[in-house]
Amino acid sequence: MCRHLAWLGRPRTLAQLVLEPPSSLLVQSWAPRRQRYGTVNADGWGVGFYAPGRPQPARWRSARPLWGDPSFASVASVLSSGCVVAAVRSATVGMPLEESAVAPFTDGRWLLSHNGRVDRAVLPPVRDAESTVDSALLAALVFDRGPDALGDVVREVGTADPAARLNLLAADGARLLATTWGDTLSALVTDEGTALASEPWDDDPAWTDVPDRCLVEVTPDGLTVTALAPTPSTPT
Ligand code: GLN
Repeated sequence: MCRHLAWLGRPRTLAQLVLEPPSSLLVQSWAPRRQRYGTVNADGWGVGFYAPGRPQPARWRSARPLWGDPSFASVASVLSSGCVVAAVRSATVGMPLEESAVAPFTDGRWLLSHNGRVDRAVLPPVRDAESTVDSALLAALVFDRGPDALGDVVREVGTADPAARLNLLAADGARLLATTWGDTLSALVTDEGTALASEPWDDDPAWTDVPDRCLVEVTPDGLTVTALAPTPSTPT
């Protein structure tokens, strides 16, 4: 299971968002605190971010662990952005191990990360997937349907594959969209902006947990959470 995060707000450096917090994505790549599936996230990492005057995001991905990319630390402290999506990967068994299989995936203005797994057999055929990894096929499906259909796509895919885990995180430079479907997601709303992350990157008590099976939207005006489906009841 991977870990991902997004930021929308005043520009922050990639180092501030990804490397420096006490439980940053860098630390989560070997010591996640809330990960339910898998123990380390060493099968690659990626970051996508938006720069002024350019609607498409810039993106850097690698099939190496984040801790094995020390050159990134040097540039990360001078790259800043007001909209960022980043992820570290723990590949699902049987999925390709390659840079193109690492989130965030992109199409036009959009970035998308998937924390989870899905049976590829239930996904409709898609064009232009970046890789054969389940997450890239799912990303291509979301891009095809339009990210505003994110909640519908998750509901449909989750019905077709009841064992699917579908925590998605998308951005277009001006807003963030996320779903919870089988794994953790936390939110931090501050005066400077809003963060969404698979798990809090520090112990700030202002982090809140997003319930399972929800759709989250973040705009400069704030954060809204809507239920996608009733939370599955725990067997007694
Ligand atoms: N299934 C995806 C992959 O193999 C995502 C894995 C994850 O969330 N750990 O990359």
